[in-house]
Amino acid sequence: MAKACIICAKIVPHGVPVEDDLVISGIRAIKQKLGIAKNNELVVCPACTEEYKKKRGEYEKKLVQHVVIASILLLVFILLPIFTKGFSLWAVVMGVVFAAGVMLLSVFSHCPRIAVGAQAKAEKPSAAKGKKGKK
Ligand SMILES: [Zn+2]
Repeated sequence: MAKACIICAKIVPHGVPVEDDLVISGIRAIKQKLGIAKNNELVVCPACTEEYKKKRGEYEKKLVQHVVIASILLLVFILLPIFTKGFSLWAVVMGVVFAAGVMLLSVFSHCPRIAVGAQAKAEKPSAAKGKKGKK
C-alpha cells in the first residue's frame, strides 16, 4: 500500500500515519462506492510537518467556532418559539438541520489527527533517551 501525504498529495516513501476518523472513513466509503478509491495509506511527510501543524491548529479553532455557532443556532431555534408562540417541534427540527449544516462546513477544512507517538518518533528519533526525574 503506497503512502500518500495529505498536505502535498504526493506519494512519499515514509511519513507519520494519519488516524482514521469519521470524516476519513466517510470519504473512503464514498470513494469506494464510486470506484475511485486509491487505497493509499494517508500520512504526513516530514517536509509537510510544519504545514500540517498549522492546518491542524486552524481546523481545531474552526471546529470550536462551529460547535459554538451550532449550539447558539440550536438554542435560538428552541428558545425563540417558547418566548413567542410556544414550543415548536418544527423549529427544533429546523434548528437541528441548521446546526448540522454548520458542523458539516467544518468537513471542508478537515485535517485529521496523526498518531502522536509516531509523530514524536519521526521528529526526534533519539530524543527518547533523556531521563525524566520524578516530580
Ligand atoms: Zn507532504
